Amino acid sequence: MTAKKKKKTLSPSEKSNREILRFTYVIVFLFLCMIGYEGFFLSQKRDEIINNTYNSRLDSFADRVIRGDILSSDGQVLAQTQQQEDGTELRSYPYGDLFAHVIGYSSMGKTGLEAQGNFYMLSSHINLMEQVMREFSGQKNPGDDLYTTLDLELQKTASDALGDRKGAVVVMEPDTGRILAMVSKPAYDPNQVQNQWDSLRTDSESRLLNRATQGVYPPGSTFKIITLLEFMREYPEEYRNFHYDCNGVLEQGDYTIQCYHKTAHGSQNLEEAFANSCNGAFAAIGMMLDQKKLSGTTRELLYDQNLPVPLSYSKSVFTEAAQDDTWQILLTAIGQGKTQITPMHSAMITAAIANGGTLMKPYLMDHVVNAAGETVKAFTPEAYGNLMTASEAEALGTMMRAVVTEGTGSKLKNDQYTVAGKTGSAEFETGKETHAWFTGYAPAENPQLAVSVIVEEGGSGGAAAAPIARAVFDNWFSRNK
Ligand SMILES: [Zn+2]
Repeated sequence: MTAKKKKKTLSPSEKSNREILRFTYVIVFLFLCMIGYEGFFLSQKRDEIINNTYNSRLDSFADRVIRGDILSSDGQVLAQTQQQEDGTELRSYPYGDLFAHVIGYSSMGKTGLEAQGNFYMLSSHINLMEQVMREFSGQKNPGDDLYTTLDLELQKTASDALGDRKGAVVVMEPDTGRILAMVSKPAYDPNQVQNQWDSLRTDSESRLLNRATQGVYPPGSTFKIITLLEFMREYPEEYRNFHYDCNGVLEQGDYTIQCYHKTAHGSQNLEEAFANSCNGAFAAIGMMLDQKKLSGTTRELLYDQNLPVPLSYSKSVFTEAAQDDTWQILLTAIGQGKTQITPMHSAMITAAIANGGTLMKPYLMDHVVNAAGETVKAFTPEAYGNLMTASEAEALGTMMRAVVTEGTGSKLKNDQYTVAGKTGSAEFETGKETHAWFTGYAPAENPQLAVSVIVEEGGSGGAAAAPIARAVFDNWFSRNK
C-alpha cells in the first residue's frame, strides 16, 4: 500500500504570511552578515584600508589633526610638523638627509615611514573632552607620535662609514626583526623635496631610490652561502670531504672562471674555499648541483617572492640555469650571471642564519603615543617562518665564522666581539670596478646584529664593505656590552 502524503493547500493569506516570514529570515540573515563583517572590519581590516594610499579619506583627517612626529628609538625627533605664523604647516626633518629614504617625505606623495605610519600620525588619541573643546574652538587636535626602531647613533655611524660613496647599509636584530639602521646613498634633503622635485625626479643618480630595499645588485660571492647550503643538502655526508686544487683559474670546457685577481688558492677544503671565496671551487660545486633543486632552495630563501618588508621594495631575482648550460651554471654558483638581490633581502637571509633559521619579520614602527605621552599601540616581533633548519643555519654560521677568522673578512677580526659573515665582489659591467658586499652578524655565538653593506663600484668586499660593517659593530658593542 502506498501512502500518499496529503498535500496541504495554503490559503492566500497563509501563503503571504509565509513569504513575509521567509523574507524576514533573509533580511535577518543579511543583517547578521553585515554585523559580522562590521566587527571583522573594525577589528582586522580598518587600519589597513584607512591607511591604503589610494584612500583619499585620510587627507581629510589632516584638516582636523596636526600630523604627529616620527622619533628615533631613544626619542629624538626625526620628522615634525610645526604650525607657521601664517597658519600653514611645515613638515621638517631635523637630521636632513640622514634618514631620507627610511623616513621618506610627505609633501609630494608619501614614502618611507611617512607613508607606512600615515594612519597613526593622523589619528589623535587625546581625551575626548579635550577633543571636543578643541573642535569647538576651531583648533586642530595633536596627532599621535610614532616611535621607530631606528637607532640614531647607528644610523650616523653607518652613514659616515659609507661616506660619499653610493650604496646601502641595513642593520637589523636577528631575533626580533627590528631594523636599527637603514642608509641609502646618494641621499636627498627631505626638507627640500618640494623645491627640488623636478630635478630629483629626473636625477641620473636616482637619489629618490631607496637602494637598501629597492636597489637590486648581483650578489657576487655572498651567494656562495646559498650554493654552500644547497651543496650540504644534496651531499649531506660527502660535502665534508670536498677538496679542490686552485691555480687561480677554473677551466670547464670552453669556459674559464677566475678567482679574484687570479689568486691561486692552492689546496682547499670546503671551509677554506668558502673562507677564501675561491671561485674555482664554488664553480666546481655548481657543476655538481641539481639546478632545479638549487632554484627551489633560492625560493625558500625568498628569491622571486614577496618579502615581509614594511617599505616599498624590489623582489630579488634568481633564474634557473638549464642543466646543460655550463656557462650559466658556473656563473650562478658564484653569484654572477642573472641573479640579483637587494641589501635588505641579503640582511634578512643573514639574520635568519643568525637566528637558527627563523626569519623574523623586519619592522620599523615600535609604538605609538598620544600627545599626553601614553602608549596607544605597540608593535611586537613576529616570526615569518623558517628559511632553513637550525642545523643548516649552524653549519653555515660555522663556515661564515671562518671567513672572518681565516679568510676575506679579516677586517672584522678583533678582540672585543666575534663576527660571522661573507664578503662579495660582484662584477656587473665589464671594465668597471666590482660592487663591494659584506653581509654578516655578531657576536657569532649570540647574535645581536645582522648587517648587510653594499658599496657600488667599491672594489673588493673585504676591503671596501667589511670596514663599514666593522664601524657599525664597533659603535653598537661600545654601547651594548
Ligand atoms: Zn681559488
